[in-house]
Amino acid sequence: MLAACALLVLISGCKDNKIDKMVDQMVSTKVIAHRGYWKCEGSAQNSISSLRNAHKAGVYGSEFDVQITADSVLIVNHDNDFKGHVINLTHYKVIQDSLLSNGEKLPTLEEYLAAGKKLKGLLLVLELKPVKDNPALEQYAVEKCVEMVKKMGLGKRVDYISFSLEACKRFAALMPKASVAYLGGYYMPIELLEIGINGFDYHYNEVLMNPFWVDEARNYNMTSNVWTVNDSLLVETLLVGNPTFLTTDNPEEVMLQIQALKERVRERF
Ligand code: MG
Repeated sequence: MLAACALLVLISGCKDNKIDKMVDQMVSTKVIAHRGYWKCEGSAQNSISSLRNAHKAGVYGSEFDVQITADSVLIVNHDNDFKGHVINLTHYKVIQDSLLSNGEKLPTLEEYLAAGKKLKGLLLVLELKPVKDNPALEQYAVEKCVEMVKKMGLGKRVDYISFSLEACKRFAALMPKASVAYLGGYYMPIELLEIGINGFDYHYNEVLMNPFWVDEARNYNMTSNVWTVNDSLLVETLLVGNPTFLTTDNPEEVMLQIQALKERVRERF
C-alpha cells in the first residue's frame, strides 16, 4: 500500500515537473530593466545604483546607454548632451565631475561594467548610441566597447543593441557569439540575419503591427525584444507572442504579470 502511494506521488510529481517545463516554454519572456531599475528611492536613469536595483529586484537583464566623448572616453548616459555639453564634441575632463540627478557621479562604461561584474547572473544590455555625423568615431566606439568587455571578462554577460545598423554589424563581426539586436524597426528578422545581426529590439508599435516577427525570429534562432513597455494591458498583449525579452521601466510589476500569466496557463492543464 505504502509503495503504491509512493509511486503515485512520484508519478504526479513527474507530471507536475513536465507541466512546469511546458509552461516555462510557453511563457518564457525575460524582463530587461530599461536604463536600470531607476524608479527607486534615490536612484537615477543609467546610474550604478539603478543597475544594482535591477539585480536586487531579480530581473534577467539591465539595459544602459553608452556615449563616446570627443577624446574617446565611453560614458553611460542616454541623451547626446549632458549639462549643456554635446558629449561627442566634448572632452571627458569637462564633464567628469558632473553629477546625475541623484548626486551620483556620471559613470564611465568601465565603472559601470566593473559594478555589473559583481552582480552575478545579471545580463548587461549595452546600447551604443549612434555618433551623429562621425561614423569613424562610432566604429571606434564599437571597438572600444568590445575591447573593454573582453578585458573585463564579461564576454558572455553582455548583449549589444543600437539604433545604428552599422554599429550592430560591427558588434556582430567582432563578437560573433554575442547577441546583437537592432533597435530601429522596419527590417524583418530574416533581413537582419542576412547582414549578420541575430536579433531585433523594436518599439512595441512595430511589434504590434508585425506580431509574426516574434515567431519568425524564434524560427531563425534569433532574439526578439520589445521596448519600452510600461502599460500593463500592453504588457499582457505582447506577452501573448512570447518574445525573448520585454524591456520596461516597471520591471517588478512586469515580472509579477509574467508569473500570473504562467499560473493562468498552468491552471488549464
Ligand atoms: Mg537605451
